[in-house]
Amino acid sequence: MEITQKNGNIILRVENLKMYFPILRGLIIQRKIGDIKAVDGVSFFIRRGETLGLVGESGCGKSTTGRAILQLYRPTGGHVYFEGKDLTKLKGRELRQMRRRIQMIFQDPYASLNPRMTVEAIVGEPLEVHGIAKGKAKRERVQELLAQVGLNPYFINRYPHEFSGGQRQRIGIARALAVDPDFIVCDEPISALDVSIQAQIINLLQDLQEQRGLTYLFIAHDLSVVRHISDRVAVMYLGKIVEMADRDELYENPLHPYTQALLSAVPIPDPEVEMKRQRIILHGEVPSPANPPKGCNFHTRCPRVMDICREKEPAFVDVGGEHFVACFLYSDKVAEESEVTTG
Ligand code: SF4
Repeated sequence: MEITQKNGNIILRVENLKMYFPILRGLIIQRKIGDIKAVDGVSFFIRRGETLGLVGESGCGKSTTGRAILQLYRPTGGHVYFEGKDLTKLKGRELRQMRRRIQMIFQDPYASLNPRMTVEAIVGEPLEVHGIAKGKAKRERVQELLAQVGLNPYFINRYPHEFSGGQRQRIGIARALAVDPDFIVCDEPISALDVSIQAQIINLLQDLQEQRGLTYLFIAHDLSVVRHISDRVAVMYLGKIVEMADRDELYENPLHPYTQALLSAVPIPDPEVEMKRQRIILHGEVPSPANPPKGCNFHTRCPRVMDICREKEPAFVDVGGEHFVACFLYSDKVAEESEVTTG
């Protein structure tokens, strides 16, 4: 499956990315008895300066995708091209240099900051690791970064526990910005925060994007937040992207039955429209990524399942205007076939 793009300044292109984790059995001699297919053939691209939202329920593989892009997990298969360079092929020094350009903001600002380090040490660490600044220059740079993320620059000697959740996430953002990256994977950066703080962090990320020309992959399960921040949105289910389109196109014209079900659950602020909202309830559990269903992996829960869905896997195709979907309902071949059977 290859995603082609005709125009635009592509900064990141992910091709058929796979991340499988082995299932091992045996206490002394362990043998592999299968794989958890956390990410199973994901392809997309991101243009410079844009935000691609990646949404899906927990466990669908979106965070693993983020980590595999950064090479925090070495992918089982596929390619990750950053400015044309395949990160999956890089090692040692070359990989470290590339990591300076790609950073990550983590979900949990409580767990991702070392409680024994001061803010100066936390934010300054990447500056030292990459040989950018040390001593007084490092201290000044950390103070500048704190000011940029809306924190008091004189707090550099404080420890993470002395800050609120929102402030800790600001520290995490300052650390990601320290090496002046081009691309940031934001892995559910607001889901551990109080609702009242979430908007502030989103606004900060948007301001920083504008000031620094940053590109984001914004991973989240909250569709309203993703709509607010993203230029385009990709929907993930059980290790695969099932639909991807321009933000407004996806929210106004969702094609994949899974996207339609997800969006039908999002409350609408207008009470009249909200009254008429029809929820699509999906039955059954999400299958295990250790044993995904044959054919379309959504067929066990799809309200519009057809015979072919149980046999064959739908291709991820552009149905027009860079609106990609993996579903036989939009494949001409199936339409023809069903005409023959029903005719
Ligand atoms: Fe549903 Fe079939 Fe489309 Fe899969 S391919 S989403 S099972 S209609």
